[in-house]
Amino acid sequence: MIHEKPHFRNRPEGIDGGFRQQPSPVDRLRKAFKNGRPRLGYERMVKMQLGDFTVTSVSDGLIRLDGGTLFGIVPKPLWQQRIAPDRRNRIALGLNCVLIQTDRGNVLVDTGNGGKRQALMRQRFGHRSSRLLSEIKAAGLSPNDIDYVLLSHLHFDHAGGCTRLGAEDAVVPVFPKARYLIQRADWEQFRTPNGRARGSIFTDDYLPLGDSGQLDLLDGDTEVIPGVWARVTGGHTHAHQIAVMESGGQRAAFLGDLVPTQHHMAPAWITSVDSFPEETLERKQELLERANRDNWIVFFSHDPHNRAGYVDRTDDNKFRLRPVTP
Ligand SMILES: [Zn+2]
Repeated sequence: MIHEKPHFRNRPEGIDGGFRQQPSPVDRLRKAFKNGRPRLGYERMVKMQLGDFTVTSVSDGLIRLDGGTLFGIVPKPLWQQRIAPDRRNRIALGLNCVLIQTDRGNVLVDTGNGGKRQALMRQRFGHRSSRLLSEIKAAGLSPNDIDYVLLSHLHFDHAGGCTRLGAEDAVVPVFPKARYLIQRADWEQFRTPNGRARGSIFTDDYLPLGDSGQLDLLDGDTEVIPGVWARVTGGHTHAHQIAVMESGGQRAAFLGDLVPTQHHMAPAWITSVDSFPEETLERKQELLERANRDNWIVFFSHDPHNRAGYVDRTDDNKFRLRPVTP
């Protein structure tokens, strides 16, 4: 059963309200990691305090995707200077998700690949094993503790971890108590996918959520819990959404596949599977300008090295990442 009326308030204006400059979360992060605790690397979780929220970049591991798919119209001689492909022209990418722990509930943004198609995922995409649940555990939570799963969109590398194989190979939700949140316009598209989308999705990632009664369809920008918003960008899919969070005057955003890696901060670097690349171009420009101006921390869905950082501008007016690493 699908809940037609989500119980959240639509409050798009809330995304823009009340931002104030506060001490940097990175300063707190540095403090947390002094005294000989391990330095952060791309394989380690990035955990930070954002006002009253604890925000952690949790990963489902590494995946290998075709470089041409990832960089669209950018010629290979250009992109391979930044990321070297393997002999099958694939580049290694993170399956990065974000966990937001608050006293009003725990929100997981995206779910990675999951573990349902291990053999296929290993052979075709080099995904060795799903590790999202162990990273969630390392952050101190179990699947039962997740109250909301906010999905940027339904491509398999974001929605695969929504479901798992249960008894007698029945496909069941991974997070038994969670509401799963997706934009209605994307749900309608992906419920009966067209030929172009078919290579990027597996319907058993998400159709069982409707059957279990855990699906909430969102109509536009929505406040999930106080301080955490789903904001529609489109571009990558009909109604691709990002997560914007604010607490204590500090703000962060998970950019989903609008800006999957730091390389995609450049205007023309847009994946070839984007449904509306011109819309991607406009939305990401707006968002990066905002993130730069207001000192947001941005989280990338697929960057293999830097899961999060601040958006700086270079002297020649390009965007550049200042990674969150102590
Ligand atoms: Zn995608």
